[in-house]
Amino acid sequence: LKHIGVLTSGGDAPGMNAAVRAVVRCAIYHGMEVTGIHEGYTGLLEGKLESLNSRSVANIINQGGTFLKSARCREFYEPEGRARAAAQLEESGIQALVVIGGDGSFTGAVLLAREHRVSVVGIPGTIDNDIYGTDFTIGFDTAINTVQDAVDKIRDTATSHNRLFFIEVMGRDAGYIALYTGIGAGSEEILIPEQSRGMDYLLQSLERSGRKGKTSSIVIVAEGDKSGGVYELAKTVEAKMDGYQSRVTVLGHIQRGGRPTCADRVLASRLGVAAVDALRDGSSGVMVGVRNNLISLTGLEKACKERTEINAELIRVADIVSI
Ligand code: ADP
Repeated sequence: LKHIGVLTSGGDAPGMNAAVRAVVRCAIYHGMEVTGIHEGYTGLLEGKLESLNSRSVANIINQGGTFLKSARCREFYEPEGRARAAAQLEESGIQALVVIGGDGSFTGAVLLAREHRVSVVGIPGTIDNDIYGTDFTIGFDTAINTVQDAVDKIRDTATSHNRLFFIEVMGRDAGYIALYTGIGAGSEEILIPEQSRGMDYLLQSLERSGRKGKTSSIVIVAEGDKSGGVYELAKTVEAKMDGYQSRVTVLGHIQRGGRPTCADRVLASRLGVAAVDALRDGSSGVMVGVRNNLISLTGLEKACKERTEINAELIRVADIVSI
């Protein structure tokens, strides 16, 4: 293997830069050529390629986002688009591709590999932590620290005014960001899509908290929660409970940005090196991840199709520490 390409695709996540840096430097360490592909699959189709050396990735480990830029590419959903992508890779002499992204990007990579025998390895980069085959995705740790910071600040107002705050966090269909930050920021309740407990449960829990002397409460709501949306939730609870004024905060895109935490930079560096190692070992169609703190390879197709199970132990801990 002499020449690899690397791209970032789908939603950006803090630590993607550190992953690109590790891929580039590991490839160069082994005497390979590396091409950076700008703007994901779109840039591949448009030939937005740049030869990268060790210095091209200097001073990016500390930056959020992705210097290669990311994109969503409609043509890639069609076989013709993928055929053009394969032709572009061949023309440029790129023998294997590292795709840093989420399950959508991996689905595209699986099809590219299957239809055109292109070697691909995936690196999970998404703040949602919703990818099967890895305990953590790149960006998750940074996002939960950002959320925790924000909730700490909101708590000041909640306690000063005896208010009930509903805070919506990201995570798409997964409740990981909510579950971790609910525990880390000490919320009273956590609403996640994996475990819908219903309105009555929430009301009982808040009433119980009130009886025990809590004068303010914070409820973390995952964006994928199925209770009908955070504003509706706040209205219903306020109508049914006396004495509490409720407020809603939707944290939004601040959760996707910012300087990656050390944990994310280390994870990204490990997975970048692991991806190049996997390609050099002749692997293709796999995702590199970390399980029980060891590098682990999972079939890309499996990584896309299987659902991650939410950790029941974490739910139990959240229930216990919020009484
Ligand atoms: P993420 O990788 O973060 O899940 P998306 O779902 O937006 O983000 O996927 C990123 C890109 O991957 C899409 O814009 C498209 O180019 C490609 N892609 C996603 N799903 C498919 C699919 N089913 N078939 C082919 N390409 C896909």
